[in-house]
Amino acid sequence: MQTTRNYLKKMTHWLLPHACVLCGGYSTRQQDLCKSCLDELPILESACSRCAKPFLAGEQLLLCDICINETPLFDCTHALYFYQFPITRLIMDLKFGDALANARILGELLADKIQTEWYREKILPEALIPLPLHPNRIKQRGFNQALEISRPIVKRLKLPLLYNNCLRIKHTSAQATLPAMERQQNVKNAFTIAKNIPYKHIAVLDDVITTGHTMMEFCRVLKQAGVKQIDVWCCARPVL
Ligand SMILES: [Zn+2]
Ligand SMILES: [Zn+2]
Repeated sequence: MQTTRNYLKKMTHWLLPHACVLCGGYSTRQQDLCKSCLDELPILESACSRCAKPFLAGEQLLLCDICINETPLFDCTHALYFYQFPITRLIMDLKFGDALANARILGELLADKIQTEWYREKILPEALIPLPLHPNRIKQRGFNQALEISRPIVKRLKLPLLYNNCLRIKHTSAQATLPAMERQQNVKNAFTIAKNIPYKHIAVLDDVITTGHTMMEFCRVLKQAGVKQIDVWCCARPVL
C-alpha cells in the first residue's frame, strides 16, 4: 500500500514537476509546496531561546523551567514548526516514504527563516553539522534526513557542510519507543569524532527534537572536541 502510494507520488511529480507535495495541486512557486499549504504550516512563534521548548499561548518568557535549572550544552535552539499535522506528514513521508523532495522543501524553508529572521542581527555559525545517523539506519533508510535537509541550507548560506567529521557508533533503539527515563541512557556514548572540527562556532541540525537527550549527548562530544558555541536548528518541536 505504502509502495503504491510512493509510486503514484513519484509519477505525479514526474508528470507535474510543480505539484504540491501536500495537496497535489499546482504550485506556482519554485518549491513543490503551494502557497495555501505553506500558509497552513504550524509556525512555532513563542519558545525557550535555549532549547525551543514551546511556550503556552500568552507566556512571555525567555527561558523554560528546564533551562533555568540546568543550562544545556548548546547555546541556542531555533525550531521552525510545531511537530503536528501537516509537518508530521512531511517528515514521516521523508523518513519512511522516501520523499526526498520534502527534505529540499524543509531545508529551503529553514534557510529563508535563518536569513530573514533568526540571524538578521546575529552572527551565523561557521559551519553546519547534520546530526549523524548510525550506518545501519542509513542502510535501512537510504539516506540521513538531517543531511538532506542541510544541503539547501548550506548552499544558500554558503556554509561548509561537515557530514563525516562525526559518527554515530551506537545503534540505538528509536528514542520515541522508550520511556523518558531510559532515553538518556540509550544515547550515552552514541557519537564519536572521526575528523578534527576546525571551527569554534557551529550549527547542528536535526529534523525533530523531542526530549533533546540525543542532541545533548552529541553536543557533549562536540564540546569535548573543542567546539565553543553550538546553535541548534530543527524543523519541528513537539509540545510535550
Ligand atoms: Zn498544497
Ligand atoms: Zn529551554
